Amino acid sequence: MNKETYNYLHEHFGIDAAILTRVEEAEARLASVFSRLDDIRSFNQYKVLDQFQRARINDQHFAWNTGYGYDDVGRTALEQLFADVFGAEAGLVRPTIVNGTHALASVYLGLLRQGDELIYCNGDPYDTMQTVIGLKGNAYGNLREFGVSYKQVDLLDGGKIDIEGVKRAIGPKTKVCALQRSRGYAFRNAMTIPQIEEWAAACKSVKPDVICMVDNCYGEFTDEKEPVGVGADIMAGSLIKNPGGGLALSGGYIVGRRDLVDKVATRVTSPGIGGECGLTFGQTRSMFQGLFIAPRVTMDAVKGAALCAQVFADLGYEVCPGPADPRNDIVEAVRLGSPEAVCAFCEGVQAAAPIDSYVTPVPWDMPGYTDQIIMAAGAFVGGSSIELSADAPMREPHDVFFQGGITYDHARFGVIKALQTLKDRGLVKGL
Ligand SMILES: *Cc1c(COP(=O)(O)O)cnc(C)c1O
Repeated sequence: MNKETYNYLHEHFGIDAAILTRVEEAEARLASVFSRLDDIRSFNQYKVLDQFQRARINDQHFAWNTGYGYDDVGRTALEQLFADVFGAEAGLVRPTIVNGTHALASVYLGLLRQGDELIYCNGDPYDTMQTVIGLKGNAYGNLREFGVSYKQVDLLDGGKIDIEGVKRAIGPKTKVCALQRSRGYAFRNAMTIPQIEEWAAACKSVKPDVICMVDNCYGEFTDEKEPVGVGADIMAGSLIKNPGGGLALSGGYIVGRRDLVDKVATRVTSPGIGGECGLTFGQTRSMFQGLFIAPRVTMDAVKGAALCAQVFADLGYEVCPGPADPRNDIVEAVRLGSPEAVCAFCEGVQAAAPIDSYVTPVPWDMPGYTDQIIMAAGAFVGGSSIELSADAPMREPHDVFFQGGITYDHARFGVIKALQTLKDRGLVKGL
């Protein structure tokens, strides 16, 4: 940050010099981390560009039709492009998939039948998926109601997958082994690509036809490879996270083996219809463009997360991942330790936003979640968490999850404002 920027932030936003200096020091310490992240970004940018060119994307692909949505060339090209970029056979990419939960639930409900078993291989699934599976609450239409049984294998100390435990758990009824790549609301590191590769191979070694499914939310473009490129059969995620590049207005994607994606498509639409129908409502242009810039946007967010880690670690907070740890999602967890600090942090992030910067986030009950959640998000796209955001379940030990920022400068400002708000309330040690 040069002198002009420093002075501007100090004078126009009232940021303390001590905070700006801390941030500058943290950035200097992150030089080699940032350089590695830039390398991943470049590789992924050219990978995406290459697939756009091979697919001969042109402006016909931005048009759309009405009614059943037959022969929508844009939709077909977009779905194949997602598959090709991620190294899969087929894809289903729809603005009408309402969120990540819907994309993931469609995979499970599309593939699992009565008597089948699902195994989660990373311990507790993401909050909303616990509701889908039937572990929490009694939501109508959950997997349990359909007679699908469930097991989970907890992670080993240190957050590694219990590969031997997974192998032992797989039995005659096991149809799908699932793995969540991102930390979700857990204080653990995200799964690395080599770990995912080892996991998929281990599952197949016990049962060659078991389906390896990855919840890829927040993981896209954080590495040169993606889970379906290293042995996973299918994966799914949200378009208002990484692969939408901040431009997609809504939607989700599912990519993987063609036979599996076809089955899931009959769940998303209808038996006999599958992926052949479904309107795109003029959204393909922003979905293409979002995918094109996603490698850049994702890495700006990842750098923001690394900065958050460095700044708070320097102040003596426990953070996950650590500043120099490998990053396989865009999330940074900071153990703040009190509800007051969590609220102050989130209020700071909210106050950093271009939209709704003047509102105060408060904890509330959200559908699919069991604890109250506080969410800071002043986004162009409602609920978009590739845009700068912070959230926390209101429960011990009061970790806050910081993510997003479609430009690095903005992610950095989120860190700065969070820190300033904590300091103003006397809630930060060491400042
Ligand atoms: C965001 C997310 C989901 C799905 O959440 P939605 O809010 O429904 O998009 C599922 N798993 C993980 C790991 C996530 O980060």
